[in-house]
Amino acid sequence: MRLVLLGAPGAGKGTQAKKIVQRFKISHISTGNILRNEIKNDTELGRKADSFVKEGKLVPDELIIEIIKKELEGKRSSKGFLMDGFPRNLKQAKMFQDMLDLLGLKLDRVINIDVSKDEIIKRLTSRRICHSCNNIYSINSLKDMESAKCPDCGGDLIKRKDDEKEVIAERLNVYEKETKPLIDYYKGQNLLVDIDGTGNENQVTERVLKHL
Ligand code: AMP
Repeated sequence: MRLVLLGAPGAGKGTQAKKIVQRFKISHISTGNILRNEIKNDTELGRKADSFVKEGKLVPDELIIEIIKKELEGKRSSKGFLMDGFPRNLKQAKMFQDMLDLLGLKLDRVINIDVSKDEIIKRLTSRRICHSCNNIYSINSLKDMESAKCPDCGGDLIKRKDDEKEVIAERLNVYEKETKPLIDYYKGQNLLVDIDGTGNENQVTERVLKHL
């Protein structure tokens, strides 16, 4: 199964991605996680991407396409993939299409998770991620935030630098201008499924699974 997950920052893509890939045993390809790991490890790619990520801007398309090419080549034998955070604009979507055509592959579904702007801001400001395994939590679900560690791997829970208020505003602008047009692009290809992203994560997963 080959899937793309669309949605504004904070819509719940990362959380849903984790559950969907576990269920179907497909690869989770998150360009955001890949970039954060490269930045954490101070690699050449990480140094190139750092300022864009910090400011909530899109990393140049060429760097992203290279990441995707490598990921697809490395995961050829897997049962499929779920793209989380890619494509992020029309140029990436078209380059992705060319790449899939070359490989003789087709997308099965594009899932668009829809959440109101107020809810998104609430979710992003209370979000913490595990520095080690990238699991996502909300401070509302953690009893003692100060001493909290990742319940899965024991790693430190941190606030993403781009989850600060000013950067959130920029990321939402970028989403409106660059990423939202992908909804119509994939609608035109009869691939789009709209999912109501409100409610708890299990409710949202149930809605997604009905379409897969
Ligand atoms: P995310 O974890 O998907 O919210 O991504 C975090 C940040 O990584 C974004 O704000 C961008 O700076 C960068 N990024 C992630 N995916 C892409 C992409 N497909 N194209 C360009 N930049 C990206």
